[in-house]
Amino acid sequence: MCGIVGYIGEKCACDVLVEGLRRLEYRGYDSAGVALLVDDHINVVKTIGKVSVLENIIHDSKSARIGIGHTRWATHGEPNSVNAHPHTDCSGDIAVIHNGIIENYVALKKKLSCLGHEFKSQTDTEVLAHLIEEFNSRADNLEVAVRLALREVDGTFGLVVMSAKEPEVLVAARRGSPLLIGLGESEKLIASDASALIRHTRNVVYMHDNEIAVVTRNNVSLKNLDDETINREAEYLTFNLEQIEKGGFDHFMQKEISEQPETILNAFRGRLKDDEGIATMGGLRDVEDKVTNAKRFVIIACGTSWHAALVGKYIMEQHARIPVEVDYASEFRYRKPVLMEGDVVWAISQSGETLDTLAALREAKRAGVPVYGIVNVVGSTIARETDAGVYIHAGPEIGVASTKAFTSQLAVLNLINLLVSRKRKTLDAKQGKEIIEEMHRLPEKICQILDQKERIKEIAEEFRDSRNFLYLGRGVNFPVALEGALKMKEISYIHAEGYPAAEMKHGPIALIDEDMPAVFIALGHSTYHKSLSNIQEVLARKGKVIVVANEADGRLKDLSDHIIEIPRTLEILSPILSVIPLQLLSYYMAIERGCNVDQPRNLAKSVTVE
Ligand code: GLU
Repeated sequence: MCGIVGYIGEKCACDVLVEGLRRLEYRGYDSAGVALLVDDHINVVKTIGKVSVLENIIHDSKSARIGIGHTRWATHGEPNSVNAHPHTDCSGDIAVIHNGIIENYVALKKKLSCLGHEFKSQTDTEVLAHLIEEFNSRADNLEVAVRLALREVDGTFGLVVMSAKEPEVLVAARRGSPLLIGLGESEKLIASDASALIRHTRNVVYMHDNEIAVVTRNNVSLKNLDDETINREAEYLTFNLEQIEKGGFDHFMQKEISEQPETILNAFRGRLKDDEGIATMGGLRDVEDKVTNAKRFVIIACGTSWHAALVGKYIMEQHARIPVEVDYASEFRYRKPVLMEGDVVWAISQSGETLDTLAALREAKRAGVPVYGIVNVVGSTIARETDAGVYIHAGPEIGVASTKAFTSQLAVLNLINLLVSRKRKTLDAKQGKEIIEEMHRLPEKICQILDQKERIKEIAEEFRDSRNFLYLGRGVNFPVALEGALKMKEISYIHAEGYPAAEMKHGPIALIDEDMPAVFIALGHSTYHKSLSNIQEVLARKGKVIVVANEADGRLKDLSDHIIEIPRTLEILSPILSVIPLQLLSYYMAIERGCNVDQPRNLAKSVTVE
């Protein structure tokens, strides 16, 4: 999940790398570093902290025309400047940046130490530099040395290597961590994410697993690790830079929350057949029968996507009458899941690179069941490795705490539900049309919620010193309670837990006192009256109650300390609205507490390690 960028060309490599790293910083940011070739030797500069710190300590490297840069999200070895990448071999002539985990690094380190290699860091990555050095002394060139070294390695990598002895070449390799190569005129870039190179070129080649690329200023040669040449067409990136910049907002998270009227529209665009009351999705067209006739759906995901999956379960079991199992990808892959004929597995991931989800979907594919994706990033690994799927079209999501991707995932799950329910005839055309009408109204309703941000900010001011929060919801809004609690934990570091409201009395109620705010999602749907009783139970114990309720709900006004009103909609669509006040609440709480909203501690955006 770290950021990787490499450059070879005619520009000042240092400037290109630092600018690219700044764009990648959301992926990992505990330390940063660059290696630049200056006067035939490699100059490594690295530091704990942010790219801005790095920038201030790079001197005398402006003449470099080739270099590599990295922002780290530590897996092995604490975040400090020694463990920061790039790592070098004993001679200092070979520098490596790496994303992923070298699983057999302990054994390799032992072997290399016996051969006389001296290690400086505690990272797994450093073994790569020494291993390549070892092979380089015998191999014809750097490419061969990297290939031979990687044969010894277990685990995952997206890496770029440079050598002072071969000043005209960068070698990149991938297994499990994303890498793409930007094809500029007389310059080439290598990056873990398109945002780092789009300023220089829009023509890119995505690397696949077990591939190695030899990149010079004018050429890219792509091979697999068995040395067989691969010909791959370049792709053209269509998104623009403004989409990945803040556009007048203070934070990406704030920008992304406010984009939701538009992103929901984009998720639905061209996919609703108003006249027939059904949805259609290009990415599922060839597999519609398999989806409709499935005996069971299994949805695998992590984090926020897992919460979206849980909403999907409630919706699809209710309407399509298909049994739906929801599993954490990391658990699914190791617990020998029972998959049967008739199962359809769905993998949900914003980035399309989430390693646990990727590994789980591969496990499902091995079991021979169809696997479809619900992904945001076009061309990402999960998008490519699934048999079919649906893009959520939320645009680049940079804020580490996922917001617009969550609501777009819900929108797509609702589209799938509509398609399947209509095909299975568990919903008729009239019901389908009613759902579509309500889907069209969602963007306007989201705007109405966003207009209440000042009110939500006031609530955040009042509760800024709270140490715990409870989030309670029922039915389709139970996963929203989980998501609200996750948002609060992620960016404001306040302990928060989400529960089905009725479960409160089986334990969490013991936590309630006058210092404990409880956030209820109590909308006017099937479990409304039950929710009222749960609120009374909190009030009876002097807890503070914040309620997300439907407009003009007089009863709740009397019962709660704070009420955030949201427009009415169908129950199955309501999580798309009810989560937005919770996103805003966590955002303003984090601001009140002086937290770094877009780069919360210990987290990274795209989780490409296990
Ligand atoms: N495993 C490597 C380390 O801890 C790479 C981590 C990353 O992806 O940033 O240094």
